[in-house]
Amino acid sequence: MSDTLVRGWCPGALRPMRSGDGLILRLRITGGRLAPDAARAVADLAARHGNGEIDLGRRGGLQLRGIRDDHLSAAITGLAELGLLDADAGAEAVRNVVASPLSDRDEMAEGDAFALAKQLETALVADDFFHALPAKFGFSIDDGGHFALADVPADVRLRFAGGDVTLSLDGNVQAVKVPGGMAVAAALRIAQVFLDLARCIDPPPRRMAALVAQIGAEAIFAAAGLAPAGLLPARRHLAVPLIGAFPTHVGVGLPFGRLTAGQLHLLADLATVDIRLTPFRAILLAGAPANVLPRVAEAGLVALSDDPLLAVAACPGAPACASASVETRDLARRLAALNSEARGVWLHVSGCEKGCASSASHAVTLVGRDGGLDLVLDGRPTDPARLSGLSPAAVEALLRSGMIDR
Ligand code: SF4
Repeated sequence: MSDTLVRGWCPGALRPMRSGDGLILRLRITGGRLAPDAARAVADLAARHGNGEIDLGRRGGLQLRGIRDDHLSAAITGLAELGLLDADAGAEAVRNVVASPLSDRDEMAEGDAFALAKQLETALVADDFFHALPAKFGFSIDDGGHFALADVPADVRLRFAGGDVTLSLDGNVQAVKVPGGMAVAAALRIAQVFLDLARCIDPPPRRMAALVAQIGAEAIFAAAGLAPAGLLPARRHLAVPLIGAFPTHVGVGLPFGRLTAGQLHLLADLATVDIRLTPFRAILLAGAPANVLPRVAEAGLVALSDDPLLAVAACPGAPACASASVETRDLARRLAALNSEARGVWLHVSGCEKGCASSASHAVTLVGRDGGLDLVLDGRPTDPARLSGLSPAAVEALLRSGMIDR
């Protein structure tokens, strides 16, 4: 294995990760906006150099899967030609910023999350000091409109509120408030304080929530020279359905967050303005007309907001992931039909207890272990199982029996 390859959770284009189906290259797309031509070119690279499957990650990044070892360098060259490659792996990794997708079209948006994301990424890349941030350390920029990012993992959360921006820390509801023009500087100060304080603790915390748990949010804000402005009012996950036709966009759901190169090509062809990647297992076609929806559905993508597939989560499982001992997605598809009235994700099928598809608690969680399935109720994959060693048929029978509250 080349020394550019790592086994771990956070692959990049310059730091591929090996999986059961080949190498994974993750692309961080600034603000989640992709021009149709660029989307077509990415789809071509995925088909030519990989297995043609593309994942939309939980932070809105694209992952090209199944890249063959002898195609890696050609894939990297192709990405560089598209302007999608950073100068080095450190610069790529630090661009871990997710933004509300429709600030320019959502009449409820209180600021331009895309512009702020661009500014923040530029500042993070420009100063090597920040390249020392842990690989998973990330920022979210919520425009205050319909597409709230409250459920998207982020260590530092920025949210537009009136003419200001509030900043809060993962695991805490205290917030500081700064004028919009100061938001990037404030976010950088917090990141700097994280790095400085984490170094003084043994072992150093890798995420903001862990540092907050140890020393409290007030101490972190004080070290950053920022005065808390009080408690941040809660935000709902999403104030509107994402999937379907709306005046601002057509929303397309991706079963399990995955699409094929051909499907990405189609979306690029249907896009009127551009493609907006979201952290919600959905792609938005900004400004597209409602009459594209039948073609979306024909292509095997989700065009209805009440599709039961939107209410189940499953990681790639076996054989795509080397850590999995069970198949996950076919099982999740079969089980999805048992709860067609569900709103919100009720079922999570995870190939192992790492829980890549969801870090949240769900009514039913199935976890692969030694070829069988553990059943966790109202919990996460790492929570104690009620039953272990179940076969897929036994799980299906249990759910059909009504003995398990879905
Ligand atoms: S949760 Fe799924 S994708 Fe993640 S490591 Fe385990 S088996 Fe692999």
